[in-house]
Amino acid sequence: MRAKASDVHTKDCVKVAVRVRPFNKRERDAGSRCIISLVSTSIGIHDPRDCHNRRSFCFDYAYWSHSGFTRDHTGLFVPEEPGGRYADQDSVFQDLGVGILENSLQGYNATLLAYGQTGSGKSYSMVGYGPNKGLVPKLCDRLFEAIRENQENRQCQVFFSMLEIYNEQVVDLLFRGSRTAGGLRVREELQRGFYVEGLRKIPCENALQVEQLMEQGTRTRTTAATQMNANSSRSHMLIILQLKQIFSKESITKQSNINLVDLAGSERQRSSGSEADRLKEGTAINLSLTTLGNVISALADVAVGKKVVHIPYRDSVLTKLLQSALGGNSRTVMIATLSPADICYEESLSTLRYAERAKRIQNRAVVNESPTERLVKELKAENARLMQKLSRMDQEGRRASDESKELRQLLTQNELQIRAIQTLWEQNLQEALKDWEQQYASITQERRMMQMYPYILNINEDAQLSGVVKLFIQEGEWGIGLCDSSPRSISIKGLGIQERHVVFRNEQRRVTLTPVMGSKVIVNGNTVYETIELQHLDRLILGSNCTYLFIGYPSERGGKDWSRYDYDYFQSELAAAEGIHLGESNTGSNQTDPSLLAVFYDYIKLMPMVAEANQMSQELSKVWMWSKAKFINRKFLMEELYQHFKAEQHENTRVEGLPAVVLPRDKDPFWDPVEPLLLGSAHLWLQSLAFRIPLEEQLEVLGSEGTEEAILQAQLVPCTSNGLPLGEDDILIDPSEILGRRLDFQLVLDQCCGVCWIREARNRGIQISFRVFDCSEPLYTPPLWHNINPLLDHRVQFTSLQTSQSLLDYLQSSAVVLELWGLQEGCTHMNSSLEAVRMTAEGVFIIDVSGPSQAAVSDSVELSCSVRALQQNLEELKSINESLRKENGSLREQLNTARIGGEGARGRSLRPSCDAEFARALKAFYHSMTSVRGQLQRLRRHRPSEESDLLGLRLFVDEQSRLLRDFSEQLEESVSALKQDVATIVRRKRERSSVWS
Ligand code: ADP
Repeated sequence: MRAKASDVHTKDCVKVAVRVRPFNKRERDAGSRCIISLVSTSIGIHDPRDCHNRRSFCFDYAYWSHSGFTRDHTGLFVPEEPGGRYADQDSVFQDLGVGILENSLQGYNATLLAYGQTGSGKSYSMVGYGPNKGLVPKLCDRLFEAIRENQENRQCQVFFSMLEIYNEQVVDLLFRGSRTAGGLRVREELQRGFYVEGLRKIPCENALQVEQLMEQGTRTRTTAATQMNANSSRSHMLIILQLKQIFSKESITKQSNINLVDLAGSERQRSSGSEADRLKEGTAINLSLTTLGNVISALADVAVGKKVVHIPYRDSVLTKLLQSALGGNSRTVMIATLSPADICYEESLSTLRYAERAKRIQNRAVVNESPTERLVKELKAENARLMQKLSRMDQEGRRASDESKELRQLLTQNELQIRAIQTLWEQNLQEALKDWEQQYASITQERRMMQMYPYILNINEDAQLSGVVKLFIQEGEWGIGLCDSSPRSISIKGLGIQERHVVFRNEQRRVTLTPVMGSKVIVNGNTVYETIELQHLDRLILGSNCTYLFIGYPSERGGKDWSRYDYDYFQSELAAAEGIHLGESNTGSNQTDPSLLAVFYDYIKLMPMVAEANQMSQELSKVWMWSKAKFINRKFLMEELYQHFKAEQHENTRVEGLPAVVLPRDKDPFWDPVEPLLLGSAHLWLQSLAFRIPLEEQLEVLGSEGTEEAILQAQLVPCTSNGLPLGEDDILIDPSEILGRRLDFQLVLDQCCGVCWIREARNRGIQISFRVFDCSEPLYTPPLWHNINPLLDHRVQFTSLQTSQSLLDYLQSSAVVLELWGLQEGCTHMNSSLEAVRMTAEGVFIIDVSGPSQAAVSDSVELSCSVRALQQNLEELKSINESLRKENGSLREQLNTARIGGEGARGRSLRPSCDAEFARALKAFYHSMTSVRGQLQRLRRHRPSEESDLLGLRLFVDEQSRLLRDFSEQLEESVSALKQDVATIVRRKRERSSVWS
């Protein structure tokens, strides 16, 4: 893929829409108040505990889907009155979907992201429920409509892919095998950027086909989630539509990727515990979502002109795949969904803040031209040239048979290639059609069976995944459990499911259920030990938490609405059976006390998690006792450990009685009684140190959800070995000058302001931790308690006695991560461990102790000739620098002489002014050189893919020459800017000195 040369690179800001959903049953029962207000595109939120605390935000679009709607006879939610303020699915599509469609038809990449806490309406907006179709199906309908309408002037191909990212693993939802194999690999190629290797791309010809594929994907997601005991609200779902348009008349091909992303629930999770534990929790909770927040923050900083050297795209799978959508070649829209309820205040505010940052991101979208099509064009042109040549030869009567034979051969080869490229699409399409027909046949078969037999239907916590799996109970006896070898068995997988778990009997149109000894079966909230007859809409829980709704014979079904039997219903029923009711209050009114309700819902949410956790600990032979908050956080860890264990068990399926995983207590990720909490982090970039320029920054400490936890004032001060700050004269022209020499600098943490953690409760404290380069352990500031704006006044000096290339690289491209930790009563604070630390006699920390880096070794890979030429250029540039420096030195000398010889006072004011101008020019030059260096590094990394054929290589060379051209242009620009600056300074200096003389 590459942009058309004629494209103007314009900046497009990410468009952000916010949508407020109606109250759900829980919120209505709890008598929740709406804390969101909306006027035009501005949205207000007020703090339910403090009515004066109101924040407002402005977005590109804001949708009120909270009230003022009714359900029409087809089940569609529509405004109560025409022109009412309620935003239905159609109006959201008109604003967001149509724009995406138009962009993709024009050849731009387009991305739509849905962000918000679980249950806030992401899937409703993206996919929709029943007749209320969301953006994705509507977009597909309209896309194929547009294709049909424009058939005469363009030929279109649409490819569909669907994947899920769970715990940093990529699963192809259209290919069942990919999850068991441990996920697909994400690879990077210069031209394509990041992509998922081996991801299925299914050619589609109509919207129905896409709908079926989505159904298939959701099915895979559901079964996988049950089997692995994974929670879909913590996974990201990506649908990729690739649209290729061939305009044969104009000989143009446009290609566009449409990424439709339903992100994991954004609910706030605070990490806790030791470093190793915290890292582990980071992965368990959602590394991809946290990194997405960091990428958005960094890009938002770039947009407001802050200097950001590093955007952490590479830190997670999601951000790798969304690289073009965020700050790259895509037109991107984000829909942030909100619950209107007071109890969700914190989450909604955090979503709004997140969305506000996202809207600042600037992308540079360009119309994409397909290389394949360009190849065909080139080959055709080459053919035409060859034909001309041949006919000319014929005309001239020259029968140079050898030459002619060679040319004819070439001609045939080219034609073959053209034909091969053109037939590839048709082959793909045929294969996909075959796949699809099989799929379609099985769906039709399933629909037929639904009208013939009773079945059980899965009910999932995520409403999108409910009702996807149907297990039919035909006449006779059926064993249900893990075992799938017997012909009359139905296989299900899940926590606490036995080999043979339960037996269903369907005789004379009556269905009974018999639990197998030792297995856990709950029907309508009550544990069942003996055979019972099932009735239509009975609720079954098998094992620890596999929930199913029993659907009787069609004659028993009547017109009953099944939708009330959702996941909450199952859990409430279970709680009721255990004696925890939401009965009517003593006063006899229907209104239940909201605080009681909150506890009740907390309980029913926690109950299945506890059941699952207990099942896992039983299988893992471990016992823990935790508080609720800690439990929720730790359950994610347990799941990870459990999945690990299951994977190992899977590999050892033939081994009976596998020993339980037993970890020593100090390695046990769940063991830690009272701990400081990680509140957030800030990045202090080190690049200025490479030039020995001091830096003073006010840093925002951001929590994992992007909330501002505090402001931190920090400095980097290059200094002498005994701590005296260096002056302007010590600024380096070329950072590589410090190689092999001693470098001293101080990291100063002055003050932390507006610490939210302490504002929330005064009896708390904070500490800050940081780690510089190769320090093996983090250093901590002393604990400071009770103060919202604690004065840190913490100064640490580091020294590198012999600066290595890897330290220099680190300074130029990295930041010190300053982590803010929250202390609370009874928790022990953290101390810097100085055991493994090397220090000078003056107490200066020694870094860079490992000597010259290994990086040089890997660099010794053969570089292409052009890169070598570029290095030569760089050398030349260095020598120009050197001569400029000499010139600078001699100018200074002349200046000094002038000062000493001339009138003292005027002379003294001249030197600093010229020096300052020169230093400024040099600084500007170094900045541009950093970007030139980046270009060079990119060039070095640029290699043809291993599978490249001749055509691929030709493309690679094209790209390589473009990069080279860009590089040399930038290089020239930088040097000529410096030359010009120096010339101006020299001229000015001469003018001044002539005035004075
Ligand atoms: P998420 O994907 O964010 O977890 P869902 O989209 O599944 O949340 O929404 C949760 C529930 O709220 C669903 O039952 C859905 O039907 C309902 N809902 C969400 N948004 C709306 C809306 N705009 N109008 C009506 N119902 C909605």
